[in-house]
Amino acid sequence: ATHTHYSTIESPDMARLITPRDPFTYKNRKGHLFVAAGSKGKTGALILSSKAALRSGAGLVTGIIPEACYHAYQSSVPEAMCIVAGDDTLNDFPLPETATACVLGMGMGTDAATAEAFAQFMATCELPCVFDADALNLLAAHPDLLHKIPERSVLTPHVGECDRLFGVSQNSMQRVEHVRMQAMRYKVCIVLKGRYTVIATPEGDCFYNTTGNAGMAKAGSGDVLSGLIGGLLAKGHTAVEAALLGVHLHGIAGDIAAGFMGQEAMNAGDLVLQLPAAWQKLA
Ligand code: AMP
Ligand code: MG
Repeated sequence: ATHTHYSTIESPDMARLITPRDPFTYKNRKGHLFVAAGSKGKTGALILSSKAALRSGAGLVTGIIPEACYHAYQSSVPEAMCIVAGDDTLNDFPLPETATACVLGMGMGTDAATAEAFAQFMATCELPCVFDADALNLLAAHPDLLHKIPERSVLTPHVGECDRLFGVSQNSMQRVEHVRMQAMRYKVCIVLKGRYTVIATPEGDCFYNTTGNAGMAKAGSGDVLSGLIGGLLAKGHTAVEAALLGVHLHGIAGDIAAGFMGQEAMNAGDLVLQLPAAWQKLA
Protein backbone atom coordinates (compact mmCIF):
# COMPACT_ATOMS: atom_id res chain seq x y z
CA ALA A 1 0.00 0.00 0.00
CA THR A 2 1.25 3.43 -0.92
CA HIS A 3 0.49 6.81 0.62
CA THR A 4 -2.62 8.62 -0.51
CA HIS A 5 -1.68 11.39 -2.83
CA TYR A 6 -3.74 14.58 -2.57
CA SER A 7 -2.90 17.34 -5.01
CA THR A 8 -4.38 20.17 -7.02
CA ILE A 9 -4.80 20.04 -10.79
CA GLU A 10 -2.29 22.43 -12.37
CA SER A 11 -2.68 23.93 -15.86
CA PRO A 12 0.89 23.06 -17.00
CA ASP A 13 0.26 19.38 -16.20
CA MET A 14 -3.01 19.50 -18.15
CA ALA A 15 -1.32 21.25 -21.08
CA ARG A 16 1.07 18.31 -21.30
CA LEU A 17 -1.89 15.97 -21.88
CA ILE A 18 -2.79 17.82 -25.06
CA THR A 19 -0.98 16.28 -28.01
CA PRO A 20 -0.91 18.04 -31.39
CA ARG A 21 -3.37 16.66 -33.91
CA ASP A 22 -1.73 14.54 -36.60
CA PRO A 23 -2.11 16.63 -39.77
CA PHE A 24 -3.05 13.49 -41.72
CA THR A 25 -5.63 12.23 -39.26
CA TYR A 26 -9.24 11.56 -40.21
CA LYS A 27 -12.46 11.39 -38.24
CA ASN A 28 -12.57 7.59 -37.92
CA ARG A 29 -9.24 7.68 -36.14
CA LYS A 30 -10.28 10.21 -33.52
CA GLY A 31 -12.90 8.14 -31.72
CA HIS A 32 -16.66 7.77 -31.92
CA LEU A 33 -18.63 8.79 -28.84
CA PHE A 34 -22.20 7.65 -28.22
CA VAL A 35 -24.37 9.90 -26.06
CA ALA A 36 -27.31 7.96 -24.60
CA ALA A 37 -29.51 10.57 -23.00
CA GLY A 38 -32.64 12.69 -23.09
CA SER A 39 -36.36 12.18 -22.61
CA LYS A 40 -39.48 14.19 -23.41
CA GLY A 41 -39.01 17.56 -21.70
CA LYS A 42 -35.28 17.00 -21.12
CA THR A 43 -33.85 17.21 -24.62
CA GLY A 44 -31.62 20.08 -23.53
CA ALA A 45 -29.37 17.91 -21.37
CA LEU A 46 -28.73 15.65 -24.36
CA ILE A 47 -28.05 18.60 -26.65
CA LEU A 48 -25.66 20.41 -24.27
CA SER A 49 -23.71 17.24 -23.61
CA SER A 50 -23.41 16.41 -27.31
CA LYS A 51 -22.32 19.96 -28.15
CA ALA A 52 -19.58 19.78 -25.53
CA ALA A 53 -18.49 16.38 -26.88
CA LEU A 54 -18.15 18.01 -30.30
CA ARG A 55 -15.61 20.41 -28.78
CA SER A 56 -13.47 17.64 -27.27
CA GLY A 57 -11.55 16.81 -30.44
CA ALA A 58 -13.36 13.48 -30.91
CA GLY A 59 -14.05 12.53 -34.52
CA LEU A 60 -17.67 11.42 -34.38
CA VAL A 61 -20.62 11.87 -32.02
CA THR A 62 -23.86 9.92 -32.21
CA GLY A 63 -26.86 10.38 -29.94
CA ILE A 64 -28.85 7.39 -28.73
CA ILE A 65 -32.12 9.15 -28.07
CA PRO A 66 -35.88 8.69 -27.75
CA GLU A 67 -38.14 9.79 -30.60
CA ALA A 68 -39.36 12.76 -28.51
CA CYS A 69 -35.90 14.35 -28.79
CA TYR A 70 -35.33 13.61 -32.46
CA HIS A 71 -36.27 16.84 -34.25
CA ALA A 72 -34.75 19.21 -31.71
CA TYR A 73 -31.58 17.14 -31.66
CA GLN A 74 -31.12 16.89 -35.41
CA SER A 75 -31.73 20.59 -35.93
CA SER A 76 -29.68 21.94 -33.03
CA VAL A 77 -26.70 19.55 -33.26
CA PRO A 78 -26.17 19.08 -37.01
CA GLU A 79 -22.68 17.60 -36.52
CA ALA A 80 -24.12 14.64 -34.59
CA MET A 81 -25.80 11.55 -35.99
CA CYS A 82 -28.46 9.71 -34.01
CA ILE A 83 -30.11 6.38 -33.36
CA VAL A 84 -33.70 6.42 -32.07
CA ALA A 85 -34.58 3.90 -29.33
CA GLY A 86 -37.90 4.50 -27.60
CA ASP A 87 -40.74 7.01 -27.74
CA ASP A 88 -40.69 9.47 -24.81
CA THR A 89 -37.84 7.68 -23.00
CA LEU A 90 -34.99 5.36 -23.99
CA ASN A 91 -35.78 1.64 -24.05
CA ASP A 92 -32.54 0.32 -25.54
CA PHE A 93 -28.83 1.18 -25.68
CA PRO A 94 -27.86 -0.15 -29.13
CA LEU A 95 -24.11 0.51 -29.27
CA PRO A 96 -22.42 -0.49 -32.54
CA GLU A 97 -18.99 -2.14 -32.79
CA THR A 98 -17.45 1.12 -33.94
CA ALA A 99 -18.14 2.94 -30.65
CA THR A 100 -15.03 3.90 -28.68
CA ALA A 101 -16.81 5.37 -25.63
CA CYS A 102 -20.27 6.12 -24.31
CA VAL A 103 -21.70 8.78 -22.00
CA LEU A 104 -25.08 8.14 -20.51
CA GLY A 105 -27.76 9.43 -18.19
CA MET A 106 -28.28 13.15 -18.84
CA GLY A 107 -32.00 13.97 -18.76
CA MET A 108 -32.65 10.28 -19.32
CA GLY A 109 -35.17 9.58 -16.56
CA THR A 110 -35.38 6.33 -14.64
CA ASP A 111 -38.64 4.73 -15.81
CA ALA A 112 -39.03 0.94 -15.84
CA ALA A 113 -38.22 0.42 -19.53
CA THR A 114 -35.11 2.57 -19.30
CA ALA A 115 -33.98 0.81 -16.11
CA GLU A 116 -34.43 -2.59 -17.72
CA ALA A 117 -32.48 -1.60 -20.84
CA PHE A 118 -29.76 -0.08 -18.68
CA ALA A 119 -29.35 -3.33 -16.72
CA GLN A 120 -29.02 -5.26 -19.99
CA PHE A 121 -26.51 -2.77 -21.28
CA MET A 122 -24.45 -3.14 -18.09
CA ALA A 123 -24.46 -6.93 -18.43
CA THR A 124 -22.60 -6.81 -21.74
CA CYS A 125 -20.90 -3.43 -22.20
CA GLU A 126 -17.10 -3.40 -22.27
CA LEU A 127 -16.69 0.13 -23.56
CA PRO A 128 -15.30 2.94 -21.39
CA CYS A 129 -18.34 4.91 -20.18
CA VAL A 130 -19.14 8.15 -18.42
CA PHE A 131 -22.03 7.59 -16.01
CA ASP A 132 -23.85 10.82 -15.19
CA ALA A 133 -27.18 11.98 -13.78
CA ASP A 134 -29.92 9.32 -14.17
CA ALA A 135 -27.37 6.64 -15.02
CA LEU A 136 -25.97 7.29 -11.52
CA ASN A 137 -29.48 7.20 -10.07
CA LEU A 138 -30.08 3.83 -11.75
CA LEU A 139 -26.79 2.54 -10.33
CA ALA A 140 -27.92 3.79 -6.90
CA ALA A 141 -31.19 1.88 -7.27
CA HIS A 142 -29.40 -1.31 -8.41
CA PRO A 143 -26.01 -1.29 -6.63
CA ASP A 144 -25.16 -4.80 -7.87
CA LEU A 145 -24.59 -3.14 -11.26
CA LEU A 146 -21.64 -1.21 -9.80
CA HIS A 147 -19.58 -4.40 -10.11
CA LYS A 148 -20.21 -4.42 -13.86
CA ILE A 149 -18.81 -0.98 -14.61
CA PRO A 150 -16.44 -1.37 -17.58
CA GLU A 151 -12.73 -0.59 -17.29
CA ARG A 152 -11.61 2.99 -18.00
CA SER A 153 -14.99 4.39 -16.91
CA VAL A 154 -15.78 7.65 -15.13
CA LEU A 155 -18.63 8.50 -12.72
CA THR A 156 -19.59 12.19 -12.46
CA PRO A 157 -21.88 12.64 -9.40
CA HIS A 158 -22.69 15.94 -7.71
CA VAL A 159 -23.07 15.74 -3.94
CA GLY A 160 -26.72 14.62 -4.05
CA GLU A 161 -26.03 11.88 -6.59
CA CYS A 162 -22.94 10.83 -4.66
CA ASP A 163 -24.87 10.39 -1.41
CA ARG A 164 -27.61 8.44 -3.19
CA LEU A 165 -25.01 6.19 -4.77
CA PHE A 166 -22.65 5.55 -1.88
CA GLY A 167 -24.61 6.58 1.22
CA VAL A 168 -24.95 9.88 3.04
CA SER A 169 -21.77 11.55 4.28
CA GLN A 170 -21.75 13.94 7.25
CA ASN A 171 -19.36 16.46 5.72
CA SER A 172 -17.25 17.05 2.63
CA MET A 173 -14.04 15.62 4.14
CA GLN A 174 -15.83 12.38 4.93
CA ARG A 175 -17.42 12.32 1.47
CA VAL A 176 -14.07 12.72 -0.29
CA GLU A 177 -12.54 9.89 1.72
CA HIS A 178 -15.59 7.73 1.01
CA VAL A 179 -15.42 8.44 -2.73
CA ARG A 180 -11.71 7.61 -2.68
CA MET A 181 -12.45 4.18 -1.20
CA GLN A 182 -15.24 3.51 -3.71
CA ALA A 183 -13.01 4.50 -6.65
CA MET A 184 -10.48 1.88 -5.53
CA ARG A 185 -13.16 -0.70 -4.79
CA TYR A 186 -14.85 -0.49 -8.20
CA LYS A 187 -11.68 0.45 -10.13
CA VAL A 188 -13.35 3.52 -11.54
CA CYS A 189 -12.53 7.20 -11.71
CA ILE A 190 -14.99 9.29 -9.69
CA VAL A 191 -15.52 12.99 -10.34
CA LEU A 192 -17.22 14.46 -7.25
CA LYS A 193 -18.55 17.77 -8.56
CA GLY A 194 -18.87 20.99 -6.60
CA ARG A 195 -17.05 24.25 -5.85
CA TYR A 196 -13.77 22.34 -5.73
CA THR A 197 -14.41 19.25 -7.81
CA VAL A 198 -12.39 16.25 -6.60
CA ILE A 199 -11.25 13.46 -8.88
CA ALA A 200 -10.61 10.14 -7.13
CA THR A 201 -8.64 7.58 -9.11
CA PRO A 202 -8.71 3.76 -8.99
CA GLU A 203 -5.19 3.97 -7.52
CA GLY A 204 -6.50 5.91 -4.52
CA ASP A 205 -5.21 9.35 -5.43
CA CYS A 206 -7.28 12.54 -5.15
CA PHE A 207 -6.96 15.63 -7.33
CA TYR A 208 -8.66 18.95 -6.52
CA ASN A 209 -9.68 21.26 -9.35
CA THR A 210 -9.27 24.99 -8.79
CA THR A 211 -10.91 26.42 -11.92
CA GLY A 212 -14.60 27.31 -12.19
CA ASN A 213 -16.96 29.59 -10.28
CA ALA A 214 -20.44 29.93 -8.79
CA GLY A 215 -21.83 31.13 -12.12
CA MET A 216 -21.67 27.45 -13.08
CA ALA A 217 -24.24 26.56 -10.43
CA LYS A 218 -26.95 26.46 -13.12
CA ALA A 219 -28.95 23.81 -14.95
CA GLY A 220 -26.99 22.08 -17.67
CA SER A 221 -23.44 22.74 -16.41
CA GLY A 222 -22.90 19.11 -15.51
CA ASP A 223 -24.24 17.93 -18.87
CA VAL A 224 -21.54 19.96 -20.59
CA LEU A 225 -18.90 18.30 -18.42
CA SER A 226 -20.08 14.74 -19.07
CA GLY A 227 -20.03 15.23 -22.85
CA LEU A 228 -16.59 16.76 -22.73
CA ILE A 229 -15.14 13.92 -20.62
CA GLY A 230 -16.87 11.38 -22.87
CA GLY A 231 -15.30 12.89 -25.96
CA LEU A 232 -11.85 12.83 -24.37
CA LEU A 233 -12.34 9.15 -23.46
CA ALA A 234 -13.53 8.35 -26.99
CA LYS A 235 -10.42 10.01 -28.40
CA GLY A 236 -8.25 7.62 -26.41
CA HIS A 237 -7.38 9.36 -23.15
CA THR A 238 -7.30 7.22 -20.03
CA ALA A 239 -10.16 7.68 -17.57
CA VAL A 240 -8.01 9.73 -15.21
CA GLU A 241 -6.64 11.94 -17.99
CA ALA A 242 -10.13 12.50 -19.44
CA ALA A 243 -11.54 13.38 -16.03
CA LEU A 244 -8.72 15.74 -15.04
CA LEU A 245 -8.49 17.50 -18.39
CA GLY A 246 -12.28 17.67 -18.80
CA VAL A 247 -12.91 19.13 -15.35
CA HIS A 248 -10.07 21.61 -15.71
CA LEU A 249 -11.15 22.83 -19.19
CA HIS A 250 -14.81 23.04 -18.10
CA GLY A 251 -13.82 25.30 -15.21
CA ILE A 252 -11.64 27.51 -17.42
CA ALA A 253 -14.55 27.87 -19.86
CA GLY A 254 -16.68 28.93 -16.88
CA ASP A 255 -14.11 31.48 -15.77
CA ILE A 256 -13.84 32.96 -19.26
CA ALA A 257 -17.65 33.17 -19.52
CA ALA A 258 -17.86 34.82 -16.08
CA GLY A 259 -15.14 37.27 -17.12
CA PHE A 260 -17.24 38.99 -19.71
CA MET A 261 -20.84 37.98 -18.94
CA GLY A 262 -20.75 37.86 -15.17
CA GLN A 263 -21.69 34.94 -12.94
CA GLU A 264 -25.40 35.76 -12.82
CA ALA A 265 -26.12 35.90 -16.54
CA MET A 266 -23.82 33.19 -17.90
CA ASN A 267 -25.37 29.79 -18.54
CA ALA A 268 -24.44 26.24 -19.55
CA GLY A 269 -24.63 27.01 -23.26
CA ASP A 270 -22.00 29.70 -22.69
CA LEU A 271 -19.67 27.04 -21.26
CA VAL A 272 -19.94 25.18 -24.57
CA LEU A 273 -19.22 28.40 -26.48
CA GLN A 274 -16.14 29.13 -24.36
CA LEU A 275 -14.59 25.66 -24.65
CA PRO A 276 -12.53 26.71 -27.69
CA ALA A 277 -11.06 29.63 -25.73
CA ALA A 278 -10.42 27.31 -22.78
CA TRP A 279 -8.46 24.92 -25.01
CA GLN A 280 -6.45 27.80 -26.39
CA LYS A 281 -5.74 29.23 -22.97
CA LEU A 282 -4.39 25.87 -21.84
CA ALA A 283 -2.33 25.05 -24.93
P1 AMP B 1 -24.59 19.45 -12.28
O1 AMP B 1 -25.05 19.66 -10.88
O2 AMP B 1 -24.60 18.02 -12.69
O3 AMP B 1 -25.27 20.34 -13.28
O4 AMP B 1 -23.06 19.88 -12.34
C1 AMP B 1 -22.72 21.21 -12.01
C2 AMP B 1 -21.36 21.57 -12.58
O5 AMP B 1 -21.08 22.94 -12.26
C3 AMP B 1 -20.22 20.78 -11.98
O6 AMP B 1 -19.18 20.63 -12.91
C4 AMP B 1 -19.77 21.65 -10.81
O7 AMP B 1 -18.44 21.44 -10.45
C5 AMP B 1 -20.00 23.04 -11.36
N1 AMP B 1 -20.36 23.95 -10.24
C6 AMP B 1 -21.56 24.02 -9.63
N2 AMP B 1 -21.51 24.93 -8.63
C7 AMP B 1 -20.26 25.43 -8.63
C8 AMP B 1 -19.57 26.43 -7.82
N3 AMP B 1 -20.20 27.04 -6.81
N4 AMP B 1 -18.27 26.68 -8.10
C9 AMP B 1 -17.66 26.05 -9.11
N5 AMP B 1 -18.24 25.11 -9.91
C10 AMP B 1 -19.52 24.81 -9.66
MG1 MG C 1 -26.06 16.85 -13.59
